[in-house]
Order: sequence, then structure tokens, then C-alpha cells
Amino acid sequence: LSLRSWVNLTTTDFSDLDPERTLVLLPLGATEQHGPHLPLGTDLLLVEEVLRRLVERFEVESDLHILVLPSLWCTKSNEHASFAGSIYLTAETLIRLVRDIAASVAASGLRKLVFMNWHGGNVDLLAMLLADIRQMYGLLTFLVDGPGLFLAPYNPPDEDQLAFHAAFYETSLMLAAYPDLVKPGPFDGIGSDLKRGRFARNFAGFKYLHPKTGVVRVGWVTPDWSEDGVIGNPAGASGEIGEGELLKQVIEIEEILREIARFRYHQ
Ligand SMILES: [Zn+2]
Repeated sequence: LSLRSWVNLTTTDFSDLDPERTLVLLPLGATEQHGPHLPLGTDLLLVEEVLRRLVERFEVESDLHILVLPSLWCTKSNEHASFAGSIYLTAETLIRLVRDIAASVAASGLRKLVFMNWHGGNVDLLAMLLADIRQMYGLLTFLVDGPGLFLAPYNPPDEDQLAFHAAFYETSLMLAAYPDLVKPGPFDGIGSDLKRGRFARNFAGFKYLHPKTGVVRVGWVTPDWSEDGVIGNPAGASGEIGEGELLKQVIEIEEILREIARFRYHQ
């Protein structure tokens, strides 16, 4: 596995690349409120940390080559628009941005484009783009969704335990990777009370309706869940837990990238 930064190549380097064996990664972060204790760039910082650890762990030349595009720092975070510091693109802007990047990747002669998405608000849009980009530019397209892969199983879809934004898991990761950027704990008093707070007032007693896990999904913005922007609770977060989780992420991402590398459609 060799990871190289797209921007460090020269234009003539592309003639040496094998399009069947080269993956192009587009990391997607976000710049959005992460409660009173985590920095705005949490999603961006975490995807870059995973990539950095991948390089450190597996920097051995092999027949798998990965080119990493510069991360998108601003994506579809409009659910957090009412909190200061959040910067967001509308769906239309992000669709056009990602499509234009994909067109340029295809024009450079490459074949496999992998979205490394670390912000939950982008998932539906990227899933739709997988087929559009395949149809428009002939690229093989893949969506590696960090929150879906790592947060969902960690955080079962029981409404009392839903804790997917700036809560225990993300706070632990940040304490491991960027401790200086986390406001000092304890984190008591931060977070949403999903049993008695706004979320319960809106959704208790509904069988089908739920903003994330319901048969009928309901459109939501963050203040529908939480007053301080945290969905869930960061209490008990720790750097040791975060360190273990980051290691799991790096190991699994490497396996996933190897699978993507050997995937092809048979006609
Ligand atoms: Zn986040």
C-alpha cells in the first residue's frame, strides 16, 4: 500500500500510473459546530488523522497505489447552520463540486474514485452521486462512510443511545488525536437528554417516525435534537478509548481499500 498526495505529483507522473490499480481518494470533512467542547473542524481533522495513521502503519511499497486528493473542508452541514462557526454548502453546490472533481479525475486517466466521507450529512448525496458519476464519466465509484462504519455499530439505533454528534465517540477520538483542541473535561452538563429533552418531546410515542432510524424519516436540523448542538453525551469520553477506536478504524480502512483495489465488474 502506498499513499501519495495528489498535489505532490507532476502532470507527467500520471503516465506511469496503472489506472486499474490506482485508487483516488477524496476525503470529505466538514467545518461545523461540534458543541461547546470540540473544534469546528472535528470531522475534517479525524479523516485526516486516519489517513495519516494509515500512511505511518503501512508505508510499504506494493502493487496497490493510492492517491489522496486534498480534503474537502466544507460540505453539506446545513443542519448546523444556526450555530456560529458552521460553514456549509447547499446540496446543489456540493453535487456540482464533487461531479466536477470526478470529471477531472476521469480526464486524468484514472478509473477508481473513493469517497472517504467523515460527515454524516453527506451520505445520501454521495450515495446518489455514485451512480451518476459512474454513468457520466465511467469511473468505478465507492463510498466509504466513516460514521456509518464505525459510529453506527458502536452506537446501536436505540433512541436512548443515539449519540452521533460530538458525543462520547467523537470526543474520545478527538482526545486521542488532538487533545489540545478539546476543551478540558469533565463534560458534565454538555449534551442532549434524549429521554426527556427536545428529542423526546418531539418524537416520543411515534412508531414509524424518527429522524434517523424510522421507517418514515423526518427531516431535521440540530436544534430539533439538542440545545447545545451535541447529539448524545460526551460524559466518560477518554483518549484511551479513542486510541483503540482509531486503531480499529485504520485496520478496517486498509482492508476496505484492498477490497476496492481488487474489485472490477465482469461483463
Ligand atoms: Zn463530527
